[in-house]
Amino acid sequence: MNDFDLLVVGSANADLVIGVERRPAAGETVLGSDLAVHPGGKGANQAVAAARLGARTALLARVGDDAHGRLLLESQRAAGVDTGGVLTGGAPTGVALITVDPSGDNSIVVSPGANARLTPQDVRAAAGLLAAARVVSAQLEVPLETVAEVVRTRAAGSRFVLNPSPPGPLPADVLAACDPLVLNEHEALFMLADSDTDVDGDGPGGDGGDAGGHAEDDPEDWARELLALGARSVVVTMGARGALVAEGGPDAATVRVPSPRVDAVDTTGAGDAFTAALAWRLSLGEDLVKAAAFAVRVGAAAVTKEGAQASFPTAAEVSAL
Ligand code: ATP
Repeated sequence: MNDFDLLVVGSANADLVIGVERRPAAGETVLGSDLAVHPGGKGANQAVAAARLGARTALLARVGDDAHGRLLLESQRAAGVDTGGVLTGGAPTGVALITVDPSGDNSIVVSPGANARLTPQDVRAAAGLLAAARVVSAQLEVPLETVAEVVRTRAAGSRFVLNPSPPGPLPADVLAACDPLVLNEHEALFMLADSDTDVDGDGPGGDGGDAGGHAEDDPEDWARELLALGARSVVVTMGARGALVAEGGPDAATVRVPSPRVDAVDTTGAGDAFTAALAWRLSLGEDLVKAAAFAVRVGAAAVTKEGAQASFPTAAEVSAL
């Protein structure tokens, strides 16, 4: 019996948001709206999204010994996330400084802070927590070597879900553990165009089949190429068009999972809601296509409300969609 359906290993940030008429040029000062402070970061978001759906969820993360860290812990606990694995100290809590202009466009500066101090040693020290989860999920807002240690330390029978955001080159053993790799179209293109992704060991961009520079402009092809690179399964999210599921090797058939039509208000956090929902349903033993069919409904529900964590639905809200 596992204690947790899902362990999320990842970032926790305070999102500091100011509305501006226009962005300052270098050396200039502009006045903005009142400051809004929201709990965020992909790890924290995905843990809250899963717990709100009813998943038994734990978070392994690092925050600073400061007010932002306390805000993050409080929001996790309020959603029902087990925070026994949230470490404190070493650096200030990660912060995203976000300005939003009248057209809704964001400019963001991220200070990773404590997220960058979540180490492989922290992962080894949390081996008991890793052993207690059916599914372990991660993103790339904490150091890559920490994510690689998660792959090595997790229980043999557990399933690993990776959302490679922000996208970057992955070691072959991390890619080979992804079941699935969950990414949006932008991230898929980035991963495929990245000539440093050297899965076949013949050097970056060698002639042995690395995907660098070969990406076609079709999500089905991207998914197959990501399988060919070594992922066990792939889910590409496509906004209002839903998601695409590919599993079973590079020649596998892909399955499109449409999203319900909704009046989108704010798409912030849709990807986090989707990934959390998918990981949870996989932990219950659902197959990947069924889990994705649930996750598109959760993503769609999340875009009907403002904000990230504030927009994540309960299971009842998903049913009512
Ligand atoms: P974000 O970065 O905004 O959090 P993302 O780019 O990682 O999101 P998307 O592919 O935009 O991820 O969205 C994830 C899922 O949310 C989609 O697969 C879909 O189910 C749902 N979704 C997103 N936008 C819409 C929309 N406009 N209408 C319906 N569903 C949507």
